[in-house]
Amino acid sequence: MLADPSNGVAFWRPLVSERRTDLARFIDELKRSHRCGDLRAADEGKEVVLFGWVASYRDHGGCVFVDLRDREGITQLVFDPDRKGHGELPRQSYVTAQTVRSEWVIGVRGVVVSRGANKNPKLATGEIEVHVVELSVFNKADTPPFEVADSIDTSEEKRLAHRYLDLRRAPLQKTLRVRHRINQATRRYFDELGFLELETPVMVKHTPGGARNFLVPSRTQAGKFYALAESPQLYKQLYMVAGFDRYFQIVKCFRDEDLRLDRQPEFTQIDVEMSFVNQDDVFRVIEGLILRIWKDVLGIDLRATYPEGRFPQMPFAESMQLYGNDKPDLRFGMPHADLTDLVIEQGGGGVPFFKDIADKYASGRYRRDLPAEIVKAMVVPASANLSRTEADKLEDFVKGMGAKGLARAKVDPQGNWTQSPLAKSIAPELRLAINAKTGAKDGDLLLFQFGKASTVHTVMANLRVHLAKRFGFIPETGHGGTFNFLWVVDPPLFEFDDESKHWVAAHHAFTRPHDADVALLETDPGKVLCHRYDLVLNGFEIGGGSIRLHDPAVQAKVFAALGIDHDEARSKFGFLLDALRFGAPPHGGIAIGMDRLAMLLSGAESLRDVIPFPKTQKGTDLMTDAPNKAAPEQLAELRIRVVEAPS
Ligand code: ASP
Repeated sequence: MLADPSNGVAFWRPLVSERRTDLARFIDELKRSHRCGDLRAADEGKEVVLFGWVASYRDHGGCVFVDLRDREGITQLVFDPDRKGHGELPRQSYVTAQTVRSEWVIGVRGVVVSRGANKNPKLATGEIEVHVVELSVFNKADTPPFEVADSIDTSEEKRLAHRYLDLRRAPLQKTLRVRHRINQATRRYFDELGFLELETPVMVKHTPGGARNFLVPSRTQAGKFYALAESPQLYKQLYMVAGFDRYFQIVKCFRDEDLRLDRQPEFTQIDVEMSFVNQDDVFRVIEGLILRIWKDVLGIDLRATYPEGRFPQMPFAESMQLYGNDKPDLRFGMPHADLTDLVIEQGGGGVPFFKDIADKYASGRYRRDLPAEIVKAMVVPASANLSRTEADKLEDFVKGMGAKGLARAKVDPQGNWTQSPLAKSIAPELRLAINAKTGAKDGDLLLFQFGKASTVHTVMANLRVHLAKRFGFIPETGHGGTFNFLWVVDPPLFEFDDESKHWVAAHHAFTRPHDADVALLETDPGKVLCHRYDLVLNGFEIGGGSIRLHDPAVQAKVFAALGIDHDEARSKFGFLLDALRFGAPPHGGIAIGMDRLAMLLSGAESLRDVIPFPKTQKGTDLMTDAPNKAAPEQLAELRIRVVEAPS
């Protein structure tokens, strides 16, 4: 009878005396009937063929027990030398089974037997075991450098150096499945909506702005370089000019950034561009995608939380003011109170640091609408019971982020401040006004930051999340069962770069400003808001995009504000500027960070846990040891000379 992998009934050919090797018989004649996670009580009595890896082995009671693992699960195998009805085969298999070790890869033919009262509730297949008749060792394995188990106490370096073994572990098998499901759900969704999945080049022209590119030297044009695409941004816009209307791509992008904990030099985006749309049209498509992914991957209907299928929106300025960044975690409250106005009104209220700031505004050195320095406070409720020692530790925490210190004040029943260096100097009116503005009551602790706006925002934003974890408002990692989505909208088009003393594009030079702000491009660029948006989930930015600037006249004004003259614009973006003059439709899009999405969906702790072969924070692949030195001949061909770093 020929093999029929689908039904798992009798399917092997009779043994012939001039037997081929065990391996050939298992691969050519006996086909796999089930995966290691499939078999249940209802399969009792079936004859099955399983392939997999030895997860564990035990030799006792005259039998050998092996837990056989494949990507679908684990099945217990029993090698009983006295099993009747199969001639000498069970005994031969038993003898071989005594020699198998962890991670050997084997194939078995056997019979499903009920474990009766002896079930293993931890295994999906725990009701049964397979009594083995025939065994083939496909390959032996060296002793693995760490145990292939769900939770292991092994350094990440070691795991990454043997990633193929690490990837055999169930948690990583699970996260990569999540990736697969996200990809499939995404493709189905966009296809249904009439999007075309189109590719874009990876080796591109270097265009300035945004992240730093990796460079690839050209051999045929020695001395010239390609850049690895940091995103398909310009090409997806060209697709719109070419009339493709709706594009998406699940695409690798490359950025040569200093790697922080949650960054990788190559990463995956779900990249989208649409013609004839406004911001809300893009939002609707992406909200639909997120709902679909949650349904298909986690089985969760987000409509329970978002009945209309729409996510809330918050202006960028409000997000900065209340939470200190543009990706607030709204699973909990604890907003910041911006005290800058109060401090200015009251001329610093007797506090020397505050006075210094108030004076700069009074003298016109600082603009209130584009504040250089600010004062913020946050309330730690009395119920949190934060001890003095813990409050002292918070000071170290904020200093690690560049803060000079962490002024604090405890509020007493009368609204006085205690335990505070500010208590003596602060004028009662300012104190009461701050109590009122922050809502601080008896026993609450006020935490203050003041100084450079960007530092104050960052420190207070991190402090807020740090305290929320400490108080158990959110778990240390993972979603804790709550998925809180938010669109952050209407950010400024430009940022002032302190180093170059120039306005720079906050995102890229092709973001469309608000129509009402176009006049400000020439007079007050810092106040121009734009159609740029970020999608935030539980305090992580999972995507961002914009409506693009397709009007050449406004484009010229944006370049002027950026200090880019005609020639420079032509040399940098000439091809796109040309394209935009040949009938560019209004268009816009977004890119979703697929790795981060997979991480948040699977509850993984780091991006490295959802990327099959990630790099370390130094950008090294510990398994292959990339990057490595090029041979002198390679460098000569490229006409490149490496200058050793000064020691
Ligand atoms: N290209 C942008 C990015 O990579 C996304 C977009 O604007 O569509 O962040």
